[in-house]
Amino acid sequence: MRIFIFLILFTTYQLFAIINIDATQLEESPWPKGETLLTYFEKKGIPQHLYYDLSETDKELCAEIAAETKFQQLVDSSGRLKHALIPISEEMQIHLSQTSDNEYKLDFVSIETMSIEQTIVIPISSSPYQDILSNTGNKALANEFIRAFNKSVSFNRLQVGDIVAIKYKHKVRMGRFFGTPEVDVAMIKSKAKANYVFKNDIDGRYYDEKARSLNTFFMRTPLQYKRISSPFDLKRFHPVLKIYRPHLGVDYAAPTGRQINAAADGKITFVGTKGGYGKTIEIQHKNGYKTLYAHLNGYAKNVKSGKNIKQGDLIAYVGSTGLSSGPHLHFGVYLHGRAVDPLKVINSSRQELPAKEKQIFLKKANILKQEIENATKLESKPYKIEAFEHSSNLNT
Ligand SMILES: [Zn+2]
Repeated sequence: MRIFIFLILFTTYQLFAIINIDATQLEESPWPKGETLLTYFEKKGIPQHLYYDLSETDKELCAEIAAETKFQQLVDSSGRLKHALIPISEEMQIHLSQTSDNEYKLDFVSIETMSIEQTIVIPISSSPYQDILSNTGNKALANEFIRAFNKSVSFNRLQVGDIVAIKYKHKVRMGRFFGTPEVDVAMIKSKAKANYVFKNDIDGRYYDEKARSLNTFFMRTPLQYKRISSPFDLKRFHPVLKIYRPHLGVDYAAPTGRQINAAADGKITFVGTKGGYGKTIEIQHKNGYKTLYAHLNGYAKNVKSGKNIKQGDLIAYVGSTGLSSGPHLHFGVYLHGRAVDPLKVINSSRQELPAKEKQIFLKKANILKQEIENATKLESKPYKIEAFEHSSNLNT
């Protein structure tokens, strides 16, 4: 089993031709809470200059490693790190590799995934969450289904004989579901009445079949700014360096000291220095949203972790901590831990879709509805990853 897993890892990332399998050990573990790339380097005896020599963009990306993210390490018999793969988003990961004695190299490489797409129909026997989970083994999909309906349908009154249906795409990586599934349409049919929700491609939010928003989260731009100096981009290509680097937020250029206000109601979950982000505040909001405010000059009075705040409350001031270039606010928005485009979330803070967008939405919704109706007449077999067990004990 061990050898098999090694081959998957190394053919996927095409790192080496030859490795000594007997002397090395592959470990997979969750990234510890509070760990930064620098504290990790210290533990592994990796020279700190490797971090300090990185560009500002790369230092920012290194601050994106999320606690609990599963990462892989390849360690030799003396415990020395040979390789590590540490995800920073669903698309990119840090690749650390030993080049010679005590020297290491740091690259950003794509996360290779395959994607499955399918339409499933599941009869209700206990609850939508439980039935989706037991039929697919996919917890993220069960969660996304619940989130899509956002309490617009009461799941308590469901009866045996009712059904749920979903058309979705989900990435699969190293034999496991990976990241957040993309649900195009979800349906729940109770007593012959079908309730649908559809994802709008433009803002990534769910709407019902009359194009009414099921979302109650509204966000505002957190400051008055001069211009957007860098937009959100999941896979930004650098034309000169010919490398890909995502930018997982939006940069608002503004003078040092400009007031920054909370984008929405929520609870402060982090105040402090966060690697390449410098002085940073994080706020957890309802519906799984989190906002991040970076490169701050300072914090407003009484701002501390655990405090509840209201939309528009003063939280901090623009600065350039963690940077050598000009002052700006790096503003990040995360939905269930995944970076999303802040401008899209701000722009979709409205109840109704603009006329043209609504027309496109309704046209697509009709096609998807027909697909679901057809699928309910057929027998479907949910995709289940049987190799799930393997990855939880990689080093046995
Ligand atoms: Zn930025």
